[in-house]
Amino acid sequence: MLPIIIDRTYIQIQAEQKLDENDSFRSFLQKIDSDELDAMVHAINEKITPLINCTDCGGCCRQLMINVTPEENIKVANHLNITPQAFKEKYLEESMQGKIIMNTIPCHFLADSKCMIYENRFTECRAFPHLHENNFKGRLFGTLIHYAMCPIIYNVVEQLKLDVGFTD
Ligand code: SF4
Ligand code: SF4
Repeated sequence: MLPIIIDRTYIQIQAEQKLDENDSFRSFLQKIDSDELDAMVHAINEKITPLINCTDCGGCCRQLMINVTPEENIKVANHLNITPQAFKEKYLEESMQGKIIMNTIPCHFLADSKCMIYENRFTECRAFPHLHENNFKGRLFGTLIHYAMCPIIYNVVEQLKLDVGFTD
């Protein structure tokens, strides 16, 4: 396995240098069967994710728009000991697509790269970067958009390039 890289400055420089390479990789992956690709990504992700500490990063908390369900509104409001209505008024807004989202980026609950409500964080926070899910191929564009931001994505993608025999 490749050494794990967690230096976000290094990853951002690499991301700029590898823009064309990653475009070629996206095309290359189209030739691989989707189920086979998912199995490879899941296996790599299972090895890499435990080696990267999200609480030292917070990259996605600084850049992503987070959707919040009504159940999560209630759950986090309870955790903060305020009413769901007060939570909604203080922290949420409706997106142009009609979804309920956090009303700031970076997220209100990020402090010194750590989540202040970690045990109660939203489903979307837990699911990102979605590398444990099926249909990696269908999400490839979105995944590579976050390649510079997320050390998990960076390391999984670089290992995947090696495992599938990709050469630029
Ligand atoms: S709730 Fe926590 S994990 Fe989710 S975006 Fe905010 S700070 Fe990050
Ligand atoms: S999911 Fe990626 S961007 Fe988000 S905190 Fe973890 S390593 Fe950082």
